Amino acid sequence: MKRRDFLSTSALAATALTMSACHRAPEEDEAGEVIQTKSKKVTLKIATSWPASFPIMGTGVDAFAKRCFELSGGSLEIKVYPKNILVPALQVFDACSAAQIDGFHSGVYYWKGKNPAFSIFGGMPLGLTSEEMITWMKFGGGYDLWREMYGKFNLYPLIGGSTGPQMGGWFKKEINSLADLKGLKMRIPGLGGEVMKKLGVNPVLLPAGEIYTALERGTIDATEWVGPALDSMMGFSKAAPYYYKGWHEPGSILELTFNKTRWEKLSKEHQAIITAASEEMTGNMLQEFRYKNAKALQELDKNVQIKTFPEEMMQAAKVALEEVLEEESAQSKDFKRTLKSYKDFVAYNNPYDNISTRHLLNLRD
Ligand code: CA
Repeated sequence: MKRRDFLSTSALAATALTMSACHRAPEEDEAGEVIQTKSKKVTLKIATSWPASFPIMGTGVDAFAKRCFELSGGSLEIKVYPKNILVPALQVFDACSAAQIDGFHSGVYYWKGKNPAFSIFGGMPLGLTSEEMITWMKFGGGYDLWREMYGKFNLYPLIGGSTGPQMGGWFKKEINSLADLKGLKMRIPGLGGEVMKKLGVNPVLLPAGEIYTALERGTIDATEWVGPALDSMMGFSKAAPYYYKGWHEPGSILELTFNKTRWEKLSKEHQAIITAASEEMTGNMLQEFRYKNAKALQELDKNVQIKTFPEEMMQAAKVALEEVLEEESAQSKDFKRTLKSYKDFVAYNNPYDNISTRHLLNLRD
């Protein structure tokens, strides 16, 4: 069989062969058949907002890069750089927009200053869970809006994992009433921070490396982070033993974003491989978070007390959230239309969720 026939009549088989033969010499196999991918070798540089080998998020991106190499038969090499190697952790968006890097892995809510709507793509307090969030993005119009808005920065975003539901945070003192929140200094970003502000909290932003010291010295009274698996590594329990159940980040998604011009120059094959591997990473990350959070919960320090925020606080948070969303909508058309798409999906999703997942979880309890 001639090379042209082989490639044109059986592109799928060729790709499958390539996948299983990724370390072979690229030109021909023993029978003289060309089995290499159609794509020329490409190397992409991706910067992350995480330290090297950061559990689940960082290791998830490393696994993604390895997967792209395997699936492409070695023609797609993705080099992952931890934070501050190529660019500082929170400058990856600008650096990628300016084509200084090819892509980045980070959290969408960091870029609220670029467009207020981005905080919705990151996750909504008291909103959709990870699975629901991804469903809205893929089937409910979220992706279209996200790509349109990122397109203005010459960026092409993909979902790059999700943390699953996050915990409400670590507090030095117990919260028994709304009044206990007044004047509290808490490290909490995003829309959750805006809501807390309306409840009397003084929300502060601190880089990961400074949170523990601030908590230990009493510069802050509380902090949220992620969930038991990652929180345990930070040692928060030693400085703030009251660990509250979550509400503000029920389904925060992470992003794997590429420079749009660079993305469009990739072969269709490489685009398909990156897309497939990103979906795999998203699933793996969610499952790994679930498994490791459950384990870390069992192994928390004995002094930790798991708490539920008082009902009066959650009622006030719901009212405050609507105020925050109205204020943001009044200031930003993009926020307003993203919120509409999001809320339309919530209304669409709820009736079925109520008789399926929610019903089953209640029965299981
Ligand atoms: Ca968080």
